[in-house]
Amino acid sequence: MLYDATVLGAGAAGLFCAGLLAQRGLRVLVVDHAPEAGRKILISGGGRANFTNLHTQPEHFLSANPNFAKSALARYTPQQFVALVERYGIAYHAKAPGQLFCDGSARQLVALLLAECAGAELRLRTEITSVERDGEGFTARTRTEGREAVVRSRNVVVATGGLSIPKLGATGLGYQVARQFGLGIEPTRAALVPFTFQPDDAARFQDLSGVALEAELSLSSPGNNRRSQPVRFRDKLLITHRGLSGPAVLQLSSYWQPGSAIALDLAPGREVTAPLLARAHRDLAGAREAWSAALPRRLAERLLELAPPGGWSNETLRAAEHSLHHWPLTPAGTEGYAKAEVTAGGVSTQDLHAHTLEARRVAGLYFIGEVVDVTGHLGGFNFQWAWASAAAAAGAIH
Ligand SMILES: Cc1cc2nc3c(=O)[nH]c(=O)nc-3n(C[C@H](O)[C@H](O)[C@H](O)COP(=O)(O)OP(=O)(O)OC[C@H]3O[C@@H](n4cnc5c(N)ncnc54)[C@H](O)[C@@H]3O)c2cc1C
Repeated sequence: MLYDATVLGAGAAGLFCAGLLAQRGLRVLVVDHAPEAGRKILISGGGRANFTNLHTQPEHFLSANPNFAKSALARYTPQQFVALVERYGIAYHAKAPGQLFCDGSARQLVALLLAECAGAELRLRTEITSVERDGEGFTARTRTEGREAVVRSRNVVVATGGLSIPKLGATGLGYQVARQFGLGIEPTRAALVPFTFQPDDAARFQDLSGVALEAELSLSSPGNNRRSQPVRFRDKLLITHRGLSGPAVLQLSSYWQPGSAIALDLAPGREVTAPLLARAHRDLAGAREAWSAALPRRLAERLLELAPPGGWSNETLRAAEHSLHHWPLTPAGTEGYAKAEVTAGGVSTQDLHAHTLEARRVAGLYFIGEVVDVTGHLGGFNFQWAWASAAAAAGAIH
């Protein structure tokens, strides 16, 4: 049998694309080596899937070509996906402005995607051993529980995701297929991932594990990001046993380059030393009180131990204020793909048509979702890219 499309990967992008194709009457096969479809969706958003962000804009994505995602994002909007979620009667709520989560479970979203692609054939526990060009189309060889099969199709859609969370089935298959067909790969790295401490910072802060605060993090040298604006994120910061986590950290990590320093504003918009500066009598007890009013108490005490303002003069208090807003830290690294929510980098957008996600030099070969060098910020943007890129490819396959 000749399929119209073989979709590699039954994740967010692959399932959505397969559904759109099958609903138009095309013969579609979806292949995945995992025992169940959409496993990453099930663990997303703490089990409730932050399935889109109503404020999605191209600025919420990293890519070597920041313009690439615009076309697909403009043609399949968050409102369209919300309409689909509503059609299935899935209740949802906004956690932060625009960030939509299921009220119940992410399983409802997987059920929606599976229902949408009821007309497609789904082969789970199936490895893809090779993909070759074959006349007008493609031949893929697969292995399902030891049984080999040959699948022929007019088009192949690669939706195998990134390298994050290998224990859920992430592999580099998509990059391998891209290289085989002559497409470039932007270097991949773990993104939306916690930082780890250098040994000296571990000794200073590790025992504060669990302390959380609102902070503003910025990159001292934004590395190879191509934004002219400084990279900065204000959100929750969490001290962990091994380093720093929390939304502000995950966001910054996507832009961080190994070895570069970050700056922490531990009390954004607050003047920590103001009560002390207003007083004639200044001492450690007063400083503890002032610092603790603006910061979690355990962190306030630790920072005072590490950097007490010498002599309590106006000058040393001002220097202390400055350092609370520009605390320098050079992470040892990140927690890597094992803990990363996404993989930055991937199939080069230079080699793909922005309108269709089809390879420029290989007709019928498409790359969608996270495997492409388009990486969203935290907040539902990665799923919106999965839906939008899937819709763009599906619209081009006939
Ligand atoms: C813990 C966590 C929480 C997240 N939370 C959110 C969130 O709330 N909101 C959001 O927008 N994004 C979130 N993300 C990111 C989001 O899950 C991904 O960006 C999205 O799933 C990417 O979709 P995809 O279809 O491209 O890839 P995936 O969903 O990863 O699907 C890829 C599929 O390909 C299959 N595959 C891979 N290699 C092979 C192979 N060799 N053979 C056969 N099959 C293969 C995999 O088994 C998988 O089913 C989260 C990620 C993680 C890890």
